Amino acid sequence: MILDSFRLDGRVALVTGGNRGLGQACAIALAEAGADIALLGRTEPSETTAHVKGLGRSAVYLSCDLATADPAQLADAVNAAAGQLGRLDVLVNNAGIIRRAPAAEVTAADWDEVMTVDLDAVFHLSRAAGRVMLAQGGGRIVNIASMLSFQGGLRVPAYTAAKHAVLGLTRALANEWAARGVNVNAIAPGYMATDNTAPLREDPVRAASILERIPAGRWGEPEDLMGAVVFLASDAARYLHGTVLPVDGGWLAR
Ligand code: NAP
Repeated sequence: MILDSFRLDGRVALVTGGNRGLGQACAIALAEAGADIALLGRTEPSETTAHVKGLGRSAVYLSCDLATADPAQLADAVNAAAGQLGRLDVLVNNAGIIRRAPAAEVTAADWDEVMTVDLDAVFHLSRAAGRVMLAQGGGRIVNIASMLSFQGGLRVPAYTAAKHAVLGLTRALANEWAARGVNVNAIAPGYMATDNTAPLREDPVRAASILERIPAGRWGEPEDLMGAVVFLASDAARYLHGTVLPVDGGWLAR
């Protein structure tokens, strides 16, 4: 039956940045669908772990700072997730940072940190997870992209460059791995009410202009991502490769 193909019973999902915001909602959604969850990040995800365990699923925490970990350490973290939970079926590359400044004033350090966390880590984690999944005969990678995978944005040049690249990387990996059972896709959230966008919502002029442009008439909530991530992680998405699913209240349709 079709709804059974959305279930993730017996699967293992690794989510980066699952302690808060969109990553927390993704981790909980995947656990509600039946998956055991590995949470990779630099902050102990106590709330998420408790929630996942409350659903009767396993949750493990892998401490890792994506800004400083080298590729070998990222691969070790992926392998530890697979080792501790027995397999690895899903990777959600969610963790991300944004630094706002006019392009002429962006520091080299900020540029480097955004590219390291938002792009380099996505590749190194995907490469490591891809190795496990290819050996296992299949898997799913879901990258969290952005409206700024399509648009230039304002005062966030590194973030925009990284998120455009995430879309390219999604397609590049999908092309290589589609025939071997590994589906690589992306979700492009619109303007969601998380810590990432708090400064925008606190600026009355920006907040009003953003809200006015969203056809749905409201900011997104982390829970709005739950259906999309479960879908892309599941057998229901078995013929989706290299696609990007906007969850944006209609922002891109304007
Ligand atoms: P958020 O609330 O700021 O959460 C960011 C997450 O990334 C946190 O779990 C954070 O962990 C983790 N993280 C940041 N730097 C890290 C590092 N060096 N090492 C490990 N983990 C790190 O943001 P969010 O809105 O949920 O964003 C999640 C993803 O969605 C990001 O990729 C973001 O670009 C993307 N996105 C968000 C929106 C939006 O409107 N909110 C729109 C489009 C795309 P700590 O708690 O330890 O900092």
